[in-house]
Amino acid sequence: MLTSLSELTIDLAALRHNYLALRGRCAPGVRLMAVVKADAYGHGLLPAARTLAAAGADYLGVATLEEGLALREAGITQPVALLLGVEPGQAKAALAADLEVMLYRRDVAQALSAAARQLGKTARVHLKADTGMGRLGLTYPEVLPFLEFLAGLPALEVLGLASHLASADLEDPAYTRRQLKEFQELLGAARARGFALPLSHLANSAATVAFPETHFALVRPGIMLYGSRVAPWLPTPELKPVMHFRTRVLQRKRLPPGSGISYGSTYVTPDWCELAVLPVGYANGLSRQLSNRGQVLIRGRRAPMRGRVCMNLIMVEVTGLPDVREGETVTLLGTDGGELISGDELAAWAGTISYEVFCNLGAANPRRYLPA
Ligand SMILES: *Cc1c(COP(=O)(O)O)cnc(C)c1O
Repeated sequence: MLTSLSELTIDLAALRHNYLALRGRCAPGVRLMAVVKADAYGHGLLPAARTLAAAGADYLGVATLEEGLALREAGITQPVALLLGVEPGQAKAALAADLEVMLYRRDVAQALSAAARQLGKTARVHLKADTGMGRLGLTYPEVLPFLEFLAGLPALEVLGLASHLASADLEDPAYTRRQLKEFQELLGAARARGFALPLSHLANSAATVAFPETHFALVRPGIMLYGSRVAPWLPTPELKPVMHFRTRVLQRKRLPPGSGISYGSTYVTPDWCELAVLPVGYANGLSRQLSNRGQVLIRGRRAPMRGRVCMNLIMVEVTGLPDVREGETVTLLGTDGGELISGDELAAWAGTISYEVFCNLGAANPRRYLPA
């Protein structure tokens, strides 16, 4: 029974299960960087990081310096990589906290080298290459000259070459194969010139399960740790939902045919309608795109949303479900008995992806944790 009107529950045992399932898809020598950027995709940076570290994650990946520092302040001792890299002015703070950096700028390389000498440390960096994502990283012709440039900087250790896959979740493997080929070419050319790059990495969640040839020394799964299958054709192991969002029926009512539901009356009852009013809306991170599209679970059965999603309220139809009473628990995401609304399903109704659903719900609601 919920004590508040709505509740976001994070099941850390499920997170641990998913970590072990993905770990099981990697050869014994391959290391795993659990990606916990963006507040662990809305699940809470520190609880998620502690659970994953305790389960055996070799590395943690975050977006920003602030997230990396938060991990260190919480006593996390695993290697941590800053996936966005740093600005020159952040070099010293990153080094002082033993954070590793994705590198793609010469001014940052110089700042890291200078700060490392000052602190009597070695700056550990990952060279970030853009092999087709069209986002962060050095372009193909820039990679080797950049490596030669780094070789001239003291107190800097290049751990590996890193790149990100744009389409590993597609059914067609062609684009991923092309990126892999470019990555291998860059690695080969670098090694031929004496750069060992022992800790190179390319794979996100989809590639971790679907393209073992992209694993190299390290894989970087994120979304699948949080229970998303990403796409039905991927050979994903059995994953458990980690985030559950539940509320309760605030009011049950009966409306005659021809009644408009919610702002704009975008739904008009064709017949007598039993309606449950629920105290959650877009202020809780539920997309307004769910209007007239989404579903909820009540006592293990599905009920469709009617009318527009409001700021703090939505309506669902419970005609023919006489046992649905005021105060009854309603599941918007996660499990209810044997039934499940997955992040992928909720995302599809809203025209988005599970990543965004988790980030939005996690940012908008207080979280309660079930222990690992
Ligand atoms: C977010 C991210 C990942 C994880 O991707 P998923 O699709 O969530 O597995 C891996 N690498 C980089 C660089 C990322 O930004």
